[in-house]
Amino acid sequence: MSKLSRTQKLAILADAAKYDASCASSGSTKRNSRKTGGIGSTGGMGICHSYAPDGRCISLLKILLTNYCMFDCLYCVNRSSSNVRRAAFTVQDVVDLTLDFYKRNYIEGLFLSSGIIRSPDYTMEQLVEVARRLRKVHRFGGYIHLKTIPEADSELLKEAGRYADRLSINIELPDDKSIARLAPEKSGTLIRKTMAGLGKRIGEAKAERKTSRKAPVFSPGGHSTQMIIGADPSDDGKILTTSSGLYGRYGLKRVYYSAFSPIPDASGGLPLKSPPLLREHRLYQADWLLRFYGFSVADIMTGANHGHLDLTIDPKLAWALQNRDKFPVNVNLADKESLLRVPGLGTTGVGKILRARRFSALRLQDLERICQSVKKILPFVVATDWHPGKQLDSLNLYDRLKPPAEQLNLFAV
Ligand code: SF4
Repeated sequence: MSKLSRTQKLAILADAAKYDASCASSGSTKRNSRKTGGIGSTGGMGICHSYAPDGRCISLLKILLTNYCMFDCLYCVNRSSSNVRRAAFTVQDVVDLTLDFYKRNYIEGLFLSSGIIRSPDYTMEQLVEVARRLRKVHRFGGYIHLKTIPEADSELLKEAGRYADRLSINIELPDDKSIARLAPEKSGTLIRKTMAGLGKRIGEAKAERKTSRKAPVFSPGGHSTQMIIGADPSDDGKILTTSSGLYGRYGLKRVYYSAFSPIPDASGGLPLKSPPLLREHRLYQADWLLRFYGFSVADIMTGANHGHLDLTIDPKLAWALQNRDKFPVNVNLADKESLLRVPGLGTTGVGKILRARRFSALRLQDLERICQSVKKILPFVVATDWHPGKQLDSLNLYDRLKPPAEQLNLFAV
């Protein structure tokens, strides 16, 4: 096989990393200044965006160290039996690329994952070495997110946490039986054990830092995981139950959901359907309700259809329509928890209402200033000069509140 240049490797290994959903967006549309005669091109290679622990949106170089892999997870394009073009960076390749992109102001950090080569320990050593060289040799101050290999030695994971801002371990599937069927070399029990170890260490490091600023940091941005949606028959209830358990037991910062897209050379055991993107979107909305709005999985799944969320309306509105007796909520008197249940009211809007009503009773026009779309909240709230009357009893409320139907595009993929 001819030797690949760094740019060729970058094209292969940035593309291979696109299935990792630990970043909120993927590449932009390709533009080339040679065609337009203007300035600037986008290569679409590996730059994605993520959120730093302080809420800033940052650009990351998202790549795999290699897409060779000894494991054969059926849902993965890089599995050993897949017929894709392979490439491998050296540790120094990744260090140089990161520094080069960073100095040119393309990126603010690195997101690095890898297929498993030689052994889980060897692979993890390589990932750690990239982060170590960046931090220790080049005093790199940018963001580093490392995907960890659950089967690797715990000392290596410990070292990874010293250099990375965030670590993640992919659980991949919500159900142990599905893991055994689709990723036979992996073990749900081992993945959860590794997550528990990381969660414990992150908690301990935070506590130590409170007593001494000199205590070493350990993955200060926490740890996260990813679940693939639609590769196995698990319903939304099962997925959210797994997420809720992971948040509660291991203190995860984020669970990312990634709609399964049919991959080249796919196994016959996987669905040949287009990626369930709307389902992925609803799961993200439900996940926010779990983390920031005080909803339980049982709340979210009230009114679900055969274990699946309603795809037409968002899960908060679906809950409210199933629980009309809890509304209307008086914006001048209700507690924070009740306000957070109002469809169309986000955490920021609720905060503004709580602050504003300290000074005067809120009227409709105050809500118009506070809420992005006051129309959405009107059937569910009472203000000084507003009462929804019998709107909540209306049989066609669902139809009135659902988003307008969109014209289908014949050429949409
Ligand atoms: S271990 Fe990771 S890279 Fe290898 S086949 Fe499984 S999911 Fe893909």
